[in-house]
Amino acid sequence: MDLLKPLKLNPRGGLTVVSNRGPYTFRKTARGIQATPSVSGLVSAIQPVIEQIHGRWVAWGGRYGTEEETLGRSLTLQKTDKWLFHEVMLTEPETAGYYEGMCNGCLWPLCHNFIEKSVFDEEMWGSYRRVNRKFAEVVLQTTGPGDMIWVQDFHLALLPGYICRQRPGARVSVFWHIPFPPPEIFTVLPWAKEIIKGLLNCEFIGFHTEGYVRNFLLSVREIYGVAIDFARGLIFGPERIVRVGAVPIGIDCREFENLAAQPGVIRKAAGIRSSIGGDYVIISVDRLDYTKGIPERLQALEYLLESRPEYKGKLTFVQIAVPSRTDVAAYRRLRRQIEEIVGRINGKYTKNFHVPIRYLFKPLSREDLAAHYLAADMAVVTPLKDGLNLVAKEYVAVKSGGGGVLILSPFAGAAVQLTEALTANPYNLREMANQIVAGIELDVTEKKRRMLALARSVREEDINWWWQKIQQNWLIDSETVGEPPPDSSIGGMLTRGAVL
Ligand code: UDP
Repeated sequence: MDLLKPLKLNPRGGLTVVSNRGPYTFRKTARGIQATPSVSGLVSAIQPVIEQIHGRWVAWGGRYGTEEETLGRSLTLQKTDKWLFHEVMLTEPETAGYYEGMCNGCLWPLCHNFIEKSVFDEEMWGSYRRVNRKFAEVVLQTTGPGDMIWVQDFHLALLPGYICRQRPGARVSVFWHIPFPPPEIFTVLPWAKEIIKGLLNCEFIGFHTEGYVRNFLLSVREIYGVAIDFARGLIFGPERIVRVGAVPIGIDCREFENLAAQPGVIRKAAGIRSSIGGDYVIISVDRLDYTKGIPERLQALEYLLESRPEYKGKLTFVQIAVPSRTDVAAYRRLRRQIEEIVGRINGKYTKNFHVPIRYLFKPLSREDLAAHYLAADMAVVTPLKDGLNLVAKEYVAVKSGGGGVLILSPFAGAAVQLTEALTANPYNLREMANQIVAGIELDVTEKKRRMLALARSVREEDINWWWQKIQQNWLIDSETVGEPPPDSSIGGMLTRGAVL
């Protein structure tokens, strides 16, 4: 645990990242404010960028305050001399409405196509607006007119509008980390127009895939009726010309390759294998979330063990489930469901004391995670829907020497880049089981060819590549792009070429 100190310096200029949660969760103790590192894909991706740039990070640190304590005030903290952290404080009721309600209970399921799980409630929406305004106040206080304000994700979709209202022409960009659903789903949202209106104050909006970009542009056209150049990813909005593009997030590939070569990690991986036993080790790593398809995957494994008895006693499946949203009843129910399935399968298929499923319900450190990836012959990454999925890329980076097999859901954004993975539809248990068997039986040369091709893509389109692409797209002067085409229809379909 790190102890953070209030910051005295106040350098201006540069880049400010704004996200709902930052790299730490804070807690007040007698010794000061304690910070525990957060586990999330967003943090893994942003931290290296912000460290390189010596930027600022504005986020909620998980602490509550009273209305007076939280109104437009931020506590400035410093983690290292590389970047500054400004904490936005929220009240408990507003967090319930904004975070648990609007973000986790409405927008998250809606954007992952789970429309039946979405709750639409005016009070939650009111909290979402209030919290976005609080973030805007802190951002306006801590940045100057020339600063680039990079907003992360769906939690803060109204922020660009609130910032630009106070500071017309502000340099704001949003990266939307989760899927953007098709317009027939997005337009169900009672506040779809307000969300789009807020986003149209950006200079650039990034998504992981062309599919999400297309869904967004179609929603803008349906809701706003403004001119859109689909081929170039341009929206001729009421406030400014907005560029939109697909820039899939990358990982710090070298960091994972280095971890995989560390003697301590190699020793740990060997220890994991010898303690597990069995001939073949399969791993899955997910936050415990219904979008990740954990019960479906376990059922596919059950089908495999039932239909291919020769694998009993030979195959071990390691499921690492990172606790997530544990105070939400639906997530607690999902955990119970998963643990029941694990118990049932282990009860039925344990042979000579070899247990088929090893289940961990806790987060691992980066080193431990790398050791688990290294120990596994195969990673099964089969979300029902996922914005991108960094775990798939991390496994490839650790296995970049050529060992290992990746099975990937076509409904993960990463599938667009990781085309040499074996794919499996998570809704099709037989297909998943068959693909796991195909992966186990894959010819060594073909296995290596696929993994080397995957590693090339993860290495080339890494975190630095991502940040370069974001900047290139953001820094173009959109006012020079000219008029919208006379027929701003879907005719000129998006291609990867829409991204520089
Ligand atoms: N992660 C971690 N410890 C764990 C499990 C996961 O640090 O025990 C990290 C993992 O390295 C990855 C992130 O959590 O960077 C998960 O990102 P992903 O895109 O796969 O899913 P998300 O949780 O963002 O939906």
